[in-house]
Amino acid sequence: MSANEVLVEVKDLEKHFKLGKNSILRAVDGISFSIHKGETLGLVGESGCGKSTVGRTITQLYSLTGGEVLFNQERLHMARSKEEQKKFKRSMQMIFQDPYSSLNPRMTVQEIIGEGLLIHRPNMSKKERDYRVVELLELVGLNQKHAYRYPHEFSGGQRQRVGIARALAVEPQFIVADEPIAALDVSIQAQIVNLLKNLQEEKGLTYLFIAHDLSMVKHISDRIAVMYLGKIVEMGDSEELYEKPLHPYTEALLSAIPLPDPKLERSRERIILKGDVPSPTNLPSGCRFRTRCPKAMDICSQIEPAFREAEPGRFVACHLFE
Ligand code: SF4
Repeated sequence: MSANEVLVEVKDLEKHFKLGKNSILRAVDGISFSIHKGETLGLVGESGCGKSTVGRTITQLYSLTGGEVLFNQERLHMARSKEEQKKFKRSMQMIFQDPYSSLNPRMTVQEIIGEGLLIHRPNMSKKERDYRVVELLELVGLNQKHAYRYPHEFSGGQRQRVGIARALAVEPQFIVADEPIAALDVSIQAQIVNLLKNLQEEKGLTYLFIAHDLSMVKHISDRIAVMYLGKIVEMGDSEELYEKPLHPYTEALLSAIPLPDPKLERSRERIILKGDVPSPTNLPSGCRFRTRCPKAMDICSQIEPAFREAEPGRFVACHLFE
């Protein structure tokens, strides 16, 4: 498996929702990126920016409005045989923010994790399946005695481990982790991020890691894409983006992260964005960020900035870099 091989390619992806006769919610409005095998791309933005819709559209929980998604160079969202659909579903799994609502409360952990095996590995005997469930529990830091318990008997962190084991059961290549640590205590967040990192190394997994702030994403992402109102406004190497953000929105998101050094933290200057995020059903003209941008210029309300490479490997959509 070459590190530079592309696993997921998203080209001009659009996902719009029709809300009424004349109202269209442009949740994802023409975005492009690729994710290499074994890589983690962090997708960051405030709630409502469309990042979860991106994850759900790639994994085919949603149909798409425009553009295309390639997985291993094969086009998704096409009419296919049931067998082929099953193959793609197995290759891509999701981990959700709230494992409590995504795990069936009436099923034991053994049943929850075994469910995917039952569908995708119908030839497996019950004994083999039970054995595999224990293997998966151990892989995520739980053990055999947890297999017979129900979701409510676990802590938040443990439930997320069950969610991860369920996703891994069918041996996917690609995982969309949709805010997997947002509902957890800060002390537990690092444990789950480390678990995901270790599993990635061990199994050569590829991740799209979705988050609403930039603080923990840095520790897991090789590259980061920042989304605002259905568009990617900046994308680049994770370290470089942290060191030197280009887009004013990325600057504001970064300035919101508390610094561990108390001296630096005292002098941290927070960029407070004015106003609320505009409605995706009624987008501002020109640059979508201009109603809140501290650096907005005249041109920003007239022309939408193109998403272009400003420096090698650094992409940004802002007139300041044209
Ligand atoms: Fe701000 Fe203008 Fe850049 Fe948009 S294009 S981010 S409004 S400076």
